[in-house]
Amino acid sequence: VLNRRAFLKDLTGVAVGLGAGVAASGSALAAGASRFPQSAGAAGRRQVLVGGHRVRTIDIHAHCSFPEAMALMDRKPAPNDPLIFGAERLRQMDEHGIDITALSINPYWYSAEREVARDVIALQNEKMAELCAAHPDRLVGLASVALQFPDLAAEQLEDGVKKRGLRGAHLGGHVNGEELASPRFDPFWAKAEELGVPVTIHPSNIPELAKRLEGSGYLTNIIALPLDTTIMLSHLIFEGTLDRFPALKICASHGGGFLGSYIARSDRTCLAFPENCKQPPKKHPSEYLKQLYFDSIVFTPEALRHLVAESGASQILLGTDYPFPWTVDAVDHILATHTLSNPEQEAILGGNAAKLLRIGSPAH
Ligand SMILES: [Zn+2]
Repeated sequence: VLNRRAFLKDLTGVAVGLGAGVAASGSALAAGASRFPQSAGAAGRRQVLVGGHRVRTIDIHAHCSFPEAMALMDRKPAPNDPLIFGAERLRQMDEHGIDITALSINPYWYSAEREVARDVIALQNEKMAELCAAHPDRLVGLASVALQFPDLAAEQLEDGVKKRGLRGAHLGGHVNGEELASPRFDPFWAKAEELGVPVTIHPSNIPELAKRLEGSGYLTNIIALPLDTTIMLSHLIFEGTLDRFPALKICASHGGGFLGSYIARSDRTCLAFPENCKQPPKKHPSEYLKQLYFDSIVFTPEALRHLVAESGASQILLGTDYPFPWTVDAVDHILATHTLSNPEQEAILGGNAAKLLRIGSPAH
């Protein structure tokens, strides 16, 4: 079995079993479960191997929604919306070799009044906890918080983590145009740091740029979203948020947007233009990349190699952006990045996320 596994790994980096239990014993492959390991088929979960060893994969960037909570703000999902969790999603996880998904919900409640925001978040975090409890070996959840009310958001995070077993918080890239670096949000950052839980941040669009971004090419997505993340992270660096809360575990979407690609310019600014840098951050901006976390959604091995060079492999987490079809080969992207060592690939595929999200070792 080991030889056959090694052989399959050599060919493709992947192998397929008939589900975790069977594959764990090795009998699925011994029985020749599939001669075409790239396609899992309906029956089994793709088993991801690194260096011949099965590794557990964890997706940090995966969307979902709960219609019951949306209804409190008079919102309705589309019929058959893939954001609503169902059996098809587990099937897709199996097919793409995703063992565990960390679910999150992009904020639509930042404009809500306090009472409404309280109700939406309470119901949503309850539904998230229920769903994760129904699939404890496949799902973990990130808490929603009403960040427009930072004190309430801090309470919601603590409640979500301590009472509902959620693993961290998920934020938008700004709150109605207000930067996350605003000192107004410090009570929330303080709570996240105190709890030691990760905060994932997904970009929102940039309404101020709507005119420039109209036309062909979906620039409101491909430019605005990475730019929103770049602006958000730059302010967290230059406004001192990361100095005030040095133990924060922030994970930015889409590989941190454009920040890692051009960080040397950020390093230069306070040296070249001190008058524009009244309170310089304690460290060079590029050094903060080594404490931030980023998902792996940068598409090519070369882009991932560069992000790892700037931040370290310990800071990168596998991301799929499910159900949006930006990636269909998130696992293969990591496996195809040959500049990474086996331990680095394993860390990015799931080891880093397991630590961050406090996911224990699977039972054997
Ligand atoms: Zn996304």
